[in-house]
Amino acid sequence: MCYKHQFYGIDSHRCVQMTPTLRCNQRCLFCWRSFEHEYPGERDLSPAEIVGSVRKYQKKALSGYKPSPYVTQERFSEALDPKHVAISLSGEPTLYPYLPELIDLFSSEGFTSFLVSNGTRPGVLAKCRPFQTYISLTAPDRETYMKVCRPLEDTWDAIQESLSLMGSRRSAVRITLVKGYNDHEPGSYARMIQESGTSFAEVKGYMFLGYSRNRLERGNMPSFAHVKGFAEKVAAECEYRVRDENPLSRVVLLEKVE
Ligand code: SF4
Repeated sequence: MCYKHQFYGIDSHRCVQMTPTLRCNQRCLFCWRSFEHEYPGERDLSPAEIVGSVRKYQKKALSGYKPSPYVTQERFSEALDPKHVAISLSGEPTLYPYLPELIDLFSSEGFTSFLVSNGTRPGVLAKCRPFQTYISLTAPDRETYMKVCRPLEDTWDAIQESLSLMGSRRSAVRITLVKGYNDHEPGSYARMIQESGTSFAEVKGYMFLGYSRNRLERGNMPSFAHVKGFAEKVAAECEYRVRDENPLSRVVLLEKVE
């Protein structure tokens, strides 16, 4: 189980990690994907094609787990029948042209969905009705945003607009903390979280993984103590409280005080 089980009750083994597009309009330093070698020939599949193939590819992804001594047969059988989709992984999902329809189709097929977005396309987000919406907030100000996320155009104001949508739905604002880059001005993060009205906020440490290792150093990975200290500073400046933590994933969950 991953920390989303602990925080939100998601059965991790029944959750499909998927993305409807590999494209992205940012070039975040901490991204694990390889935007340096982007595949140019991507074709947009229809929502029906995606939903119709999720079980097949989940089964493929599970190859090798059946004989594992760490996996019970019961869990393995359940995993073959997924119930959740995490729409994220590699690429910005709002660049997929049929995202609202895709989410609605997942819902009608009995899946709960987590939509994870960089928040640069509020017009698309407004039309999406997932179970929970995640928005990344990776800078306390525009200047840091331009340096850390390196967007193809300045979309800082669009992110602010996306944040303003979060108060009216089940949502989480995610801060990915990169030591030495965006771990300053906790009060600014607190102000944006407060104004968004989001149900939850996560402060999560950057992980030195994938292609981000070509852009950052291992030392940019904050310790859990650093993440926790920063989360407490954010909480101290807004009406949110620390609700939970997962040291292994270096993440702290803040919850709105009602
Ligand atoms: S927004 Fe997400 S997918 Fe795009 S570059 Fe940043 S981390 Fe990677």
